[in-house]
Amino acid sequence: MTTLIIGGGWSGLAAAVTLVQQGHPVHLIESAKQLGGRARNVSWHDEVMDNGQHLMIGAYQQMLDMMTLVGISAEEAFDRYPMDITLYDTLFSPLKLSAKNWLPWPLSLAWSLIASSGLTGFYQVAKLQAHSKKLLSGNDISVSDWLLLTKQSERLIKQLWVPLCLATLNTPITEASAHRLATVLQESLGRGKSAADSLIPRIPLGDVFPSVAANYIKQHGGKISLQTRAKSLLIQDNKVQGITCQDGHKIFASNLIVATSAKHSADLLAPYLTINKSIEYPISTVYLRYPATVSLPSPMIGMTGTISQWVFDRSAQSPGLIAVVISAPGEHEKLTKAELVSLVSKELHNMLPYLPEQASDSLVIREKHATFACTVNIEQERPLSETTISGLWLAGDFVANGYPATLEGAVRNGKHCAELLLTK
Ligand SMILES: Cc1cc2nc3c(=O)[nH]c(=O)nc-3n(C[C@H](O)[C@H](O)[C@H](O)COP(=O)(O)OP(=O)(O)OC[C@H]3O[C@@H](n4cnc5c(N)ncnc54)[C@H](O)[C@@H]3O)c2cc1C
Repeated sequence: MTTLIIGGGWSGLAAAVTLVQQGHPVHLIESAKQLGGRARNVSWHDEVMDNGQHLMIGAYQQMLDMMTLVGISAEEAFDRYPMDITLYDTLFSPLKLSAKNWLPWPLSLAWSLIASSGLTGFYQVAKLQAHSKKLLSGNDISVSDWLLLTKQSERLIKQLWVPLCLATLNTPITEASAHRLATVLQESLGRGKSAADSLIPRIPLGDVFPSVAANYIKQHGGKISLQTRAKSLLIQDNKVQGITCQDGHKIFASNLIVATSAKHSADLLAPYLTINKSIEYPISTVYLRYPATVSLPSPMIGMTGTISQWVFDRSAQSPGLIAVVISAPGEHEKLTKAELVSLVSKELHNMLPYLPEQASDSLVIREKHATFACTVNIEQERPLSETTISGLWLAGDFVANGYPATLEGAVRNGKHCAELLLTK
């Protein structure tokens, strides 16, 4: 019998692809007009943009495998660069994390760190890295406590750990889980040079996976219904019967995968299961349009001591386009869009004076519920894919997998959930 999937984000799509690949019929419903969820296309003038700047890394293996399966290659979708990050600060000299020198990995990284922060900086980072194993075998603590414990300097905290923590966990260091940060560091830096590669989309996000996955699902006999919202579940004698949609019509199914965000899943499942809603934190993206000849000195740069946090060169997709990312809650939320654009443009100009003082055009996208907050002990609060209700399964990035909210986590959970369902 057909499996019903609620949610057409990357997780729901990965679940549907996995099922139809095995010849299992699916019907995926999505409440929005388009697929992709939190990683989707949006229109700006006559251009297709991303709803927020995303960065993938070489370690996103299941996401890359899933893309290959549906017929899109990483070469088509991404510009792939060896790690080469410069973090600019308003007080300290630039700090570099780069694999782009003559030394083999990870010595290349160590060398760039020594060259930009001295031997002291390098020792501190090495100390934190060496402490990861001990940390992970004990109780979770906050990232700021971990930084204190491993005696990180004020400079490293401000210029390296704060921006890295925001970029990977979208959570301030005082609240963020040290276990999750340690896991991310292990996965990205501890698995060879290519795992740390930056993958920056060169085509709109909705075309990186969602639209191609949708074609694959349909070609394999699956059905996709857009603008169809699940309102409540039909569950009898602890068994899934189907759902009632917002417009009142019912869809019957004996297997149901809920692949929505933590909050939406918690609301939908509330009468039957308790899912921790967890706090959700925002991410703002400011797109700035400059003359077509303008580009950044490297594909991405970090900024500290400023409202702007990470800056991406998007000129491969659209000449003269720069994306500025601001993660987690903060002072920037109090600014109007025009004030934010003006401030961010000035910060960029101060850092790279060749950039015009103001961009010729701009787009601000504020995703208020971008990710679940990756707080201390979050892993213990995340649900598993298999539930106590027969035929009810959970996917979505918030389901337990050790990762923070990422596309890799979303795809992993979708695939894993479908595989579990197939074994029953
Ligand atoms: C601005 C921004 C920047 C990000 N940057 C990165 C990054 O750099 N790297 C990275 O790896 N990750 C990043 N993320 C996180 C990543 O986008 C998410 O982890 C991932 O997209 C989650 O996918 P999902 O399928 O689990 O959930 P979602 O994308 O939320 O999909 C759930 C879908 O369910 C639908 N839905 C909800 N309720 C119902 C209902 N009742 N009936 C039917 N449909 C319903 C929703 O409309 C949605 O389409 C970022 C997220 C944002 C917003």
